[in-house]
Amino acid sequence: MKFYSLKKTTLIDYPGRVASIIFTKGCNLRCPFCHNRELVDDGFAIEPIEWGEIFEHLTKRKNVLGGVCISGGEPLLYCDDLKKVIDDIHSLGLRVKIDTNGILCESLKTLDVDYIAMDIKTSIEKYDVLGYKGTDDYKENILKTIDYIITSGVDHEFRTTVVPGIVDIEDIEKICQLIVNSKRYVLSQFRPFNSLDPEFERIKPYPFKILEEMKNIALSLGINCSIRGE
Ligand code: SF4
Repeated sequence: MKFYSLKKTTLIDYPGRVASIIFTKGCNLRCPFCHNRELVDDGFAIEPIEWGEIFEHLTKRKNVLGGVCISGGEPLLYCDDLKKVIDDIHSLGLRVKIDTNGILCESLKTLDVDYIAMDIKTSIEKYDVLGYKGTDDYKENILKTIDYIITSGVDHEFRTTVVPGIVDIEDIEKICQLIVNSKRYVLSQFRPFNSLDPEFERIKPYPFKILEEMKNIALSLGINCSIRGE
């Protein structure tokens, strides 16, 4: 299997653990605010890194690392190949976290991961602005994934990047209703740079008091919510 970026050490991508993070290429969404356009847009040629090379790095660093994050793009597009990668990581005594947009629910269920971070981009009815090109039932799959994650017993977090024009207070209320029994909800401030749609680089982020208001909605429902990017 090939990956398209490796960050050897990160203190922020795996909660409570020093980790490496690896990135797959390609995504089944095209969020206009996506910062990973090199990984999502076919027009960028990036040198792949073979899994064997990454495994060598992890083997050398296994005593200082606590885990590996698999991110993208959408890593679940490579679910079959990821099974071996995850087994290899576990063989080093390291934990595995996966980042996903939650569309490929059945694929997620087949993976033996230790932490799932799922992005909920906005309220379900507004997802069509995110450019999904697959079958019509994808919103149902997203809802199924949310339920699966909450009931799976796997450590997890849900995350929303609060992009003006994509997510407002009402959307946060609707998202919170879906994740009442979740372990963690993270609201991330939107950063207007390197976006898939350059128009989004002109969008002014919400003031933090709006994020606080959103956080308070989650807290009022008993959800363990925090803001990232303060
Ligand atoms: S933000 Fe995530 S889900 Fe959206 S296009 Fe980018 S990689 Fe895909």
